[in-house]
Amino acid sequence: MRRIYFDHSATTPVHPLVAREMDHFLTGDNFGNPSSMHYFGRIALNALDEAREKVARAIGASTGEIIFTSSGTESDNMAIHGAAYTNRRRGNHIITSAVEHHAVLHTVRALESHGFDVTILPVDRYGMVDINDVEAAITDKTILISVMHANNEVGTIMPIAEIGRLAQERRITFHVDAVQSFGKIPVNVDDLGVNLLSLAGHKFYGPKGVGMLYVRKGTPWKQTMLYGGAQEHMRRAGTENIPAIVGFGKAVELAVEKIDEESKRLITLRDRMIKEVLDRFPHVELTGHPNLRLPNHVSFVFRYIEGESMLLSLDMRGIAVSSGSACTSGSLEPSHVLLSMGYPHEVAHGSLRLTLGKDNTEEDVEYFLDVMEPIVTRLRAMSPLMRNSDANIPAE
Ligand SMILES: *Cc1c(COP(=O)(O)O)cnc(C)c1O
Repeated sequence: MRRIYFDHSATTPVHPLVAREMDHFLTGDNFGNPSSMHYFGRIALNALDEAREKVARAIGASTGEIIFTSSGTESDNMAIHGAAYTNRRRGNHIITSAVEHHAVLHTVRALESHGFDVTILPVDRYGMVDINDVEAAITDKTILISVMHANNEVGTIMPIAEIGRLAQERRITFHVDAVQSFGKIPVNVDDLGVNLLSLAGHKFYGPKGVGMLYVRKGTPWKQTMLYGGAQEHMRRAGTENIPAIVGFGKAVELAVEKIDEESKRLITLRDRMIKEVLDRFPHVELTGHPNLRLPNHVSFVFRYIEGESMLLSLDMRGIAVSSGSACTSGSLEPSHVLLSMGYPHEVAHGSLRLTLGKDNTEEDVEYFLDVMEPIVTRLRAMSPLMRNSDANIPAE
């Protein structure tokens, strides 16, 4: 069966050039511990240094500001936890947004039960935070602002540079989850004015289980989560995952190299898909911002259809997509992102996300549109909501 992958916001395949570099550190003599002083250790340390240089160069940082972690989740946890406790004597107030990834939201919720005050900023119908709301939320106790660069569910790009200027003016530590934006739009730590920034390798054709936390020099931040060895300049204990970090470095290099032409190509595919879906199907709305969105991100709500049903029907035809209404722990909870954008529960349940990637083509989009037509017709014909919505056609 023809298989099309439209779920690059969930994860990406490992780039063949990344796999090749990683393989080099999984076989032969390149297995050393970078903390060892002998030949084997030096090879590993050299690889670690090179990866760090690539990452620093890509985001406009210096090598001393880069910490390798095990994931985007770990980076978010470390950033927030570390900033919260390091600044504890100055205040206890944290500001974040309603549409953050759970790696951020659940971390601030946990801090709340340890005496921190949390303000969750609302978003508009595009999923965008208003800079005026950020400013209004700041108190003399505010020690941390955490807002994501681009949203994973609806693709909206946040006004990060503006928030960064405000945070800098007020001397408040600013963390940005850039897991979705890196490799698709420019991510430069000075342009964005951030103190802390998180990345995850598997969202841009690197391996899973490796991430990065940027910590600007001079930021009041200490690691507060892992105790052990002196790795990563005493900021992240545990023997470094050299093959994964080497892969991460290579993926960073490739992502930045091709960002302009690849973004242009993806925007063309994206806009074609959005236009065709809105033209062909009634009762469908684009979710997220129409222009200020990730180049590869397409998301809708289909009224009178369950997102899950569309996902499963498309999967049977070989097309992999995602639905915001992911079935978590057995209960169908609609996405917190769509709910905070003002969509009612029953509408949020009809969400469909298609995130494009490097191997997707015009033909893939065409194939999806053809496959989608009978699926929408069939699912809507089965929908009691659809029947009830039309007063002239009584439900049998
Ligand atoms: C995927 C993702 C994460 C988590 O990264 P992992 O490496 O999967 O732990 C965090 N934030 C955002 C916005 C993401 O999309």
